[in-house]
Amino acid sequence: MDRYVVIGHPVEHSVSPRIHALFAQQTGQSLDYGRCLSPLDGFVETVQALAVDGVRGCNVTVPFKFEAFELVRANRPEGVSVRAGLAGAANTLGLDASGWWADNTDGIGLRRDIEDNAGVSLRGRRLLLVGAGGAAAGVLGPLLEAGLAEVVIVNRTAEKALALVDSHAAWAQSHGVRLSARPLTEAGAGYDVVINGTASSLAGAAVPVPAEVLSPQGWAWDLMYGAGAAGFLDWARAHGAQARDGLGMLVEQAAEAFWLWRGVRPDTSPVLEALRTELARKAGG
Ligand code: NAP
Repeated sequence: MDRYVVIGHPVEHSVSPRIHALFAQQTGQSLDYGRCLSPLDGFVETVQALAVDGVRGCNVTVPFKFEAFELVRANRPEGVSVRAGLAGAANTLGLDASGWWADNTDGIGLRRDIEDNAGVSLRGRRLLLVGAGGAAAGVLGPLLEAGLAEVVIVNRTAEKALALVDSHAAWAQSHGVRLSARPLTEAGAGYDVVINGTASSLAGAAVPVPAEVLSPQGWAWDLMYGAGAAGFLDWARAHGAQARDGLGMLVEQAAEAFWLWRGVRPDTSPVLEALRTELARKAGG
């Protein structure tokens, strides 16, 4: 049976094993998907040991997405996908006859949740991306391919937003998107879509942008899901926007990884529905 793992530190909280078990059941694929807790200073050795043990693919989570990218870039540059190259981070590794390849499915996962699950067209719209960490880097490239008119990035540490703009400037230009970075305090107003890609919800901190960034008919996403996302979602709804958490993105990025590994595309909607029910049941004790 082919083996896959989610690798991170910590990793116990990850729902990826549950998602992939549901995908495997639905598509009739025979696979085993587990968790791997890597030491913080031993990611490369852990991945090498997984290959020897017969693991065929890994989902990579915090804090190893940058190391996963670097591992493949250094050993097999042609094995890095365009979207992982743009992000400088990988959330999916796969093993083939030439070694590990690296991809980043976070951005396409978010786009599918926005465009397919929520039915929101990004064409011609203005989007505010709050945050410039690993998640923001992962979603930016695919968002720039969606026909948006403008993307503005704001981040607590302004230099990181500027660096993201620099690394994506050519990609934005080739897709006809105006891309810029602004200070968090001058985020602007009236965006069609606001994405919270910060860990502020996780930290229980206040929403890091003023409510004027939202527009009454607009949309807001928190990439976080579960109880932690509630503060941002309540804030967005209280100011008239429609809001969604990151669970849809999580399931969609997993579906893309499943397709890359297995060549089969699962139907994500029953899996998303099952997870929502399970998480609500857990939250209710
Ligand atoms: P990360 O690389 O550690 O980046 C954290 C980001 O949050 C940085 O931009 C940081 O700003 C900002 N930040 C942290 N605390 C803040 C605060 N109190 N106020 C303002 N900004 C703050 O983390 P990440 O991997 O990008 O993850 C970010 C979020 O996305 C997490 O909630 C994670 O759960 C979620 N995520 C979801 C999915 C999904 O599939 N749904 C996938 C990936 C990530 P500085 O640069 O100034 O430190």
